Amino acid sequence: MPSQQSIKAGDRTIKLNTWQFIGNEWKEAVGKSTFGIENPSTGEEVIQVSEGKAEDVDIAVKTARKTFKDPAYKEMNPTDRSAILQKLADLMQENFDDLVALEMLDTGKTHKQCSNLDVPASIGTLRYYAGWADKVLGLSSFNIPKTFAYTKREPVGVCGQIIPWNFPLLMFTWKIAPAFACGNTVVIKSAEATPLSALYMCDLIVKAGFPAGSINLITGYGKNAGAAIASHMDVNKVAFTGSTVTGRSILKAAASSNLKKVTLELGGKRNIIFPDADLKKAIEWSIWGINMNFGQTCHAGTRIYVHEDVYDEFLELYTARMKKMVVGDNFDKNNTQGPQNSKMQYEKILGYIDSGKSDGATVHLGGNAIKGKDGSKGYFIEPTIFTNVTANMKIMREEIFGPVVAIAKFKTEEEVIEMANDTTYGLAAGVHTKDYERAIRVTSALEAGTTWVNMYNFVHWSIPFGGYKESGIGRECGEAALENYTEVKAVYFNMGMRAP
Ligand code: NAD
Repeated sequence: MPSQQSIKAGDRTIKLNTWQFIGNEWKEAVGKSTFGIENPSTGEEVIQVSEGKAEDVDIAVKTARKTFKDPAYKEMNPTDRSAILQKLADLMQENFDDLVALEMLDTGKTHKQCSNLDVPASIGTLRYYAGWADKVLGLSSFNIPKTFAYTKREPVGVCGQIIPWNFPLLMFTWKIAPAFACGNTVVIKSAEATPLSALYMCDLIVKAGFPAGSINLITGYGKNAGAAIASHMDVNKVAFTGSTVTGRSILKAAASSNLKKVTLELGGKRNIIFPDADLKKAIEWSIWGINMNFGQTCHAGTRIYVHEDVYDEFLELYTARMKKMVVGDNFDKNNTQGPQNSKMQYEKILGYIDSGKSDGATVHLGGNAIKGKDGSKGYFIEPTIFTNVTANMKIMREEIFGPVVAIAKFKTEEEVIEMANDTTYGLAAGVHTKDYERAIRVTSALEAGTTWVNMYNFVHWSIPFGGYKESGIGRECGEAALENYTEVKAVYFNMGMRAP
């Protein structure tokens, strides 16, 4: 299989390199094996890409290490790194429509979401960290008698980065931008279901002028390529976004190899509607809470707690809105809900729907797999609402990662805080109320890394993002991400102190 192939994405035909991207070159995987990528709206294979395994990871890490040690790279002016990140953002803007089309083809997302959110937010992330590149500074101290001390922030080294399939392009930029801004080198692995936008980005990376070896991409499976990054003895840090189960295995691999630094972004979600909320707006945000990427969002608002005084009205209006979803091929702009990302994901969601049914929850709406509106065969699931749910049900405790909400009633503020915090997850939570004192009180009491008041599912690259409890370790986005990609070095100078 040649590296460069043509791929049809909607009405565009795009040239795409499909081998491993190492040292600014396309290299065939050592084992020469390949794997297929599906269009989730049709279930049909659209392209084969090269399968990187442990030996390819090793080559990529050696390349990244060589670049990291290169004095020319070490001494690169941070303003030049900033300019390269800006240049990459410019190239993404120039190739906006290709990126939208590839992301739609790979993930099943709507045109509206990719063009309003995924691609612009990815560009915004690059520009934001371009701004940080020459502002990563240390502190100085004359506070200790007869001593002068300063700190400097040095890059960590070779960063291994493992990303999921639900936001392939955005996660790619969340990972590479702060790492490169701080002067690290990167070996990133895309998710096996969604490597296309990352592959496309690598050609832009060359054009933007990234030094060879600074960003390297492996396309392959988690069990070998991903695991090889996590256990590699010469990777200094792993940044992972994905499931809690995989997150645990990455921590174990880091612990039993070289104790590399680990940051984890995992899952979790809940949304609370108080009786004084502007119900119409709360419903629109709650719909977005589940319709964004059709529930395949780590902070999807799948557990909705509604105060008993407004429960009936909320349920009626919310159901009417969910019924308006038009499910079908995501390249048809009239459709508002596309397919789930893969067969595996689709079957997993249907399994959760079955468990809700057998645990005794009421299927208030949907609850089935369906064909798309146009009869297409992809991985479509009806927008689904469960009511009469209890805290111990699997659909309340685990991530469904599909267009499925469970709506429960509550009586008091204290009770709903207990209910919302009764989870091992702590990524995000929403509160809908006009009472701002209550908003501050409840957001303070919620065990979550991101909380929203009168909105839901809004994340900006300039604000830290990450989870409490089993939803993760560390924060991405904002200034906080720079801590993940730098080591602080303290330097003491003796200014007249005698040895004790
Ligand atoms: P996953 O954990 O199965 O896979 C994520 C990535 O890890 C993929 O690239 C995969 O190839 C790799 N991987 C799998 N097994 C591995 C192993 N043993 N060692 C190393 N790498 C391995 O998760 P997924 O199904 O792809 O993604 C969905 C999950 O991700 C959801 O649970 C969701 O909540 C979470 N998520 C979290 C965030 C966040 O920012 N917190 C964002 C997106 C997704």
